[in-house]
Amino acid sequence: MKVFNNSFTVGTNKRCEMIDITDKIQDIIGDVGISEGTAVVYCPHTTAAITINENADPDVVHDILLMLSEIVPHSHSGYRHSEGNSDAHVKSSIIGCSKTIPLSAGKMQFGTWQAIFFCEFDGPRRRTVHVQITGE
Ligand code: ZN
Repeated sequence: MKVFNNSFTVGTNKRCEMIDITDKIQDIIGDVGISEGTAVVYCPHTTAAITINENADPDVVHDILLMLSEIVPHSHSGYRHSEGNSDAHVKSSIIGCSKTIPLSAGKMQFGTWQAIFFCEFDGPRRRTVHVQITGE
């Protein structure tokens, strides 16, 4: 079994947005030449996240961000964290900082409508994504 670690940066442009990083991840998988195995996509930030969802209709991303902002408002009288970005920390924990994707024949085993997104909740910033690919 082989293990490869790779990283890349993502420049975000808004306070909250979801950026499709599917092609970037697939390029890394192709470069390391692993055919059967898994890819772990990991975000080392406390106010960002990684998720898998639909990239065909951009309204899906819009609606996810809309509902997250309804569930976790930017301002709340009960927040104590002094940086003013408590909502971003909560959203990061709800969505989670990593995803594991099975690989077969060198491809991520996504369904027709699936893509992997970097989720920014306190941008704009320069962010890092780590990718660990394990397999044969
Ligand atoms: Zn903070």
